[in-house]
Amino acid sequence: MRLILLGPPGCGKGTQAKLLSQRKHLEHIGTGDILREAIRQHTAAGRRAKPYVDGGKLVPDDLVNDVIAERFNRDDRPERFVMDGYPRTLAQAAAFDQVLRQQFLDPTAVILLQVDDEEIIDRVSERWSCPKSGCKATYHTVSNPPKVSGICDYCGTKLVQRADDNPQTVRARLIVYHSNTEALVGHYRAQGLLHEVRGSGPIEEIYANIIKVLNCQAGPTC
Ligand code: AMP
Repeated sequence: MRLILLGPPGCGKGTQAKLLSQRKHLEHIGTGDILREAIRQHTAAGRRAKPYVDGGKLVPDDLVNDVIAERFNRDDRPERFVMDGYPRTLAQAAAFDQVLRQQFLDPTAVILLQVDDEEIIDRVSERWSCPKSGCKATYHTVSNPPKVSGICDYCGTKLVQRADDNPQTVRARLIVYHSNTEALVGHYRAQGLLHEVRGSGPIEEIYANIIKVLNCQAGPTC
């Protein structure tokens, strides 16, 4: 299975991608995580991306396209994956189409997770996440708090709030999202790949709805 998750910041793409990756044995490719790690390690890509990420703007297409192309052109390229946060623009979708074509990999489906803007602003402002690579669990102080305040349930790491998860930057990210999404949605709808799933409600219910539209209840390998 090869999935692309679309949706506004804080719609639950990361959470659902993590579940899909664990339960359906898919590689989870999150460009936000990749860029934050590059920024933390002060790589050339990280230094270039930082001002965009901090300001809630999209990093330039060529930077993120190169990161993805490099990942897919390696010998251990992912065959089964869930994309979380890429592509985000029409130019990225065109570049990704080409990368997949070159690798003879067809996407199975594109899932658009829909959540209203006001709910997004609330969710993201109250979001805390585990910074540990390989964990990256996220919490909401009211609807999904950790068992021990400020500590990750799964690995015991101290939770952090992302620098770009504040109401002002979230509003900027939503404007960016809305101005790019329609074209992206049209692109995948025209390919017959798009499925819309409501992103509000309990996490397991949303997961079940994704599985329902994918029509792949059985086993980890569908
Ligand atoms: P996310 O964790 O997906 O919310 O991404 C956090 C930030 O990383 C975004 O606000 C952008 O600055 C940057 N970013 C992540 N993915 C992309 C992408 N596909 N294109 C451009 N910028 C991205």
